[in-house]
Amino acid sequence: MSLKACPFCGMDGEDMAWYFEYGVLEFIEHPNTDCPLSDEKFFCADTWNDRPIEDRLRAEIEKWKSWGEHVKNYMGKTEFDKMQTETS
Ligand SMILES: [Zn+2]
Repeated sequence: MSLKACPFCGMDGEDMAWYFEYGVLEFIEHPNTDCPLSDEKFFCADTWNDRPIEDRLRAEIEKWKSWGEHVKNYMGKTEFDKMQTETS
């Protein structure tokens, strides 16, 4: 399983260190000592990759994008683009 980038320092998941011991225990150690997560140990990739708030916000964004498409279809593209220009 690939690792996501660190949510704090952005270090790429490929640069994270993996340790396997006894064929059962595994953990991820974050090598960036400047990062607040550097002292933490994560015992599986699912734990490291878990981003509940980020996932919830992404779902919320998708919901609003879908709503925007409905509004665009209802208003017509020209009116929708005009409204977006006025509100941005
Ligand atoms: Zn980090």
